[in-house]
Amino acid sequence: MAVLKAVSGQLFLYKKIDKTKYFVINVEKNYIHERKSVILYSYIQKKVLPLFSRRRIMSYQSHEYYLRRAIEVSKEARAAGNTPFGALLVDKEGNILMEQPNIEITEKICTGHAEATLAARASHEYSREFLWDCTLYTTAEPCAMCAGAIYWANIGRVVYGMTERRLLELTGSNEQNPTFDLPCREVFARGQKDIQVVGPVKEVEVEAAKVHEGFWD
Ligand SMILES: [Zn+2]
Repeated sequence: MAVLKAVSGQLFLYKKIDKTKYFVINVEKNYIHERKSVILYSYIQKKVLPLFSRRRIMSYQSHEYYLRRAIEVSKEARAAGNTPFGALLVDKEGNILMEQPNIEITEKICTGHAEATLAARASHEYSREFLWDCTLYTTAEPCAMCAGAIYWANIGRVVYGMTERRLLELTGSNEQNPTFDLPCREVFARGQKDIQVVGPVKEVEVEAAKVHEGFWD
């Protein structure tokens, strides 16, 4: 009989092997501490992980679906006292691996844009090869810095809600966000990787801009 336990917010599965030995697996990270039995390993992979890891049961949704979630994250950023931007990292199966609001004001990090912060976190957690098959969803087109961060993280695709030019109309010359006027496709075009760019996504452009209402006045 296997037992599930939450330790420091992480889920571990314990299976008694004999009187003294336990097989322990970190369910979230799919990390096995002690591999004693191939049969048990395959049982956990097939039967147990799908029950406890949301990552394994989601299929790829539409761009609007992920952008709407990113817009929710941008609202959280604004509510927390930051600029209203949000980003997600989605794997090739459609699982949301990470969510990241803008953190530049509360954390006092001038590079704390949602996408650059997400790219740095992603590179800490995942390999470059894995990230090449992932997509970064963001409410507004990445600035030159964030496009650079995405490039260095090796994230293969970017999908954005509204254009940087539309954002520039909203922010104007606001000191907190003197927006660039440089499409991310132009930044990527000067690099050596074929990063795919999708956007603006017209179904969510208005919703993405709405979160900015009254913020830059
Ligand atoms: Zn940026």
